[in-house]
Amino acid sequence: MTWAVFWATAVAFLAFAGLEVSLLSGVGIALLGAASLGAVFFGAKATRDRALGQLAALKALTARGELAPTDELIYTECLDLASAIQGIRRTYRDEIEGLQRAAFRDPVTGLPNLNSLKLMIDRNLPKTSYGKPAALFHLRIDGFENSGTTLGSDFAERLERDVSSRLSLLLATMASNADDRMRNALLASKAFNEFMIFLPDECDRQAASVLARHLKALFSEAIEIDGRQIRLGLIGGIAMAPDDGVSADTLIKNAGMALDEMGREGKAGFQFFTPRLERVAVGRQKLEQELRDAVSAREFQPFFQPKICFRTGRMVGAEALARWNRPSGQMISPGAFIPLAEELGLIDEIGFQILDTACHSAAKWNTQDLDLSVAVNVAPSQFDRTDFVDRVLDALRQSGLPPRRLELEITETMAVSNPDRVINVMHPLRAMGVKLAIDDFGTGHANLSMLTQLPFDIFKIDRQFVSSLEQDQQAPAIVEMILAMAETLGLETVSEGVETEAQAAFLRRRGCTIGQGFLFSRPIPDPDLQTMAAHWIAQKKVAS
Ligand code: C2E
Ligand code: CA
Ligand code: CA
Repeated sequence: MTWAVFWATAVAFLAFAGLEVSLLSGVGIALLGAASLGAVFFGAKATRDRALGQLAALKALTARGELAPTDELIYTECLDLASAIQGIRRTYRDEIEGLQRAAFRDPVTGLPNLNSLKLMIDRNLPKTSYGKPAALFHLRIDGFENSGTTLGSDFAERLERDVSSRLSLLLATMASNADDRMRNALLASKAFNEFMIFLPDECDRQAASVLARHLKALFSEAIEIDGRQIRLGLIGGIAMAPDDGVSADTLIKNAGMALDEMGREGKAGFQFFTPRLERVAVGRQKLEQELRDAVSAREFQPFFQPKICFRTGRMVGAEALARWNRPSGQMISPGAFIPLAEELGLIDEIGFQILDTACHSAAKWNTQDLDLSVAVNVAPSQFDRTDFVDRVLDALRQSGLPPRRLELEITETMAVSNPDRVINVMHPLRAMGVKLAIDDFGTGHANLSMLTQLPFDIFKIDRQFVSSLEQDQQAPAIVEMILAMAETLGLETVSEGVETEAQAAFLRRRGCTIGQGFLFSRPIPDPDLQTMAAHWIAQKKVAS
């Protein structure tokens, strides 16, 4: 009987002490800042330390057999401890509760936060090691971020609370519909637009899929707040215990990895974690490091794709297209590294490396009487930099390339998103003679009045229109319209992706000025381009 009293009291005490430890670590910094609360806790901590010391000494003596635990002694010690704890609890109840809330609850939704979720998962997971499954959902809601910027942070918080209530209600409704696996579901807030749901009660993949379906349905319709209809998107990653992990940290990491995979694919819906995702993530980390190293080692260089004048058949210039020249000699195309470079914020530096090298190459061509211009692609983030104009001027100065030989290509989508910026950035450059081309034209919804205001010299008709000239009945009409408009505005037109003689003949007939595509040449290294251009000049001399 007395042993039971001893251990029960000791366990109760340690549970309280443990709570205080996590509380201290969770809010430690805030606590130090608040002097009065600090005093409260240091007082409580001293009492706890003293009590813990007594308990440890007692346990050690008992374990060594040096002290037979007499009922009276232990009982008195336990009573002392219990009353000390009760005293602390009574005196500082409000402060403790406040801190407990701050450490374990999300301030906006009032739901358990990540700290709290981790404790709950770790407390429940041992059951799953006997083979009983549990599921962890990581949800990300799209649409919050826009509402915050456009409608204010108060509105965003109300939206967040609304979503959390809807999620709670769904879980409660499923549990009341006799789905026992939802009975102890734990909903937690992870970030302002991220939630987690832990289902500890024998929730297998099938049950997780059922919840995923309900969650999808919940977000399939717009939410109404203050008479505003808000459409939110939902994606989710799911990790299953024990297969995908038996600790909170592993499950959270794996559910997050599954979520990121969904995010990268840009699809709506749910993804279960699989070991393949882990391999992909490891491969991605390796590629990320290699890409960072490659930027430092300046491993990016341009290949050049000739541009041919439809009227004379002459090569008039070339587009610089980035290639990653790996130390192994392998040449990697932009499709394989540009999306990652954009994500890692490396695309600007890669773009400037290409710009510098392309200007040097073009300056050399022109000293050899090749009379060619060079076109360089500019990424959106690169164009938005405050030092963009200076970097272009540096590239021109260092290479000695005359500005009129340089064309900068920006996509139609970029131009449409911030026309004023385009006008301001291009003003000093165009005054020197640098030309501006609108790339992938026909895909970005620029309207006519905007087009007439923007400082463009060249339209590049997107490859998709050229390649469908022979199959799609509307494509010829669209291409004709673009060509007619360019002619009226007095602009040069470059058709991209010309692959067949029939396409070239159509474009030539309709007044397109320049063609670029595999029909003439694939992108090639600088020396090959020089050989090709020199060959053309030699032929011309023979003919004349
Ligand atoms: P883009 O600017 O539209 O470049 C044209 C792409 O079409 C090039 O792909 C080129 O090789 C390909 N192409 C040219 N003619 C034909 C053809 O007849 N048929 C077919 N099927 N394809 C053709 P590449 O070199 O893989 O470049 C892809 C994209 O990567 C470029 O599209 C551009 O958006 C981007 N990119 C390339 N270099 C750079 C760079 O230095 N900076 C930035 N920001 N983006 C770059
Ligand atoms: Ca381009
Ligand atoms: Ca293009």
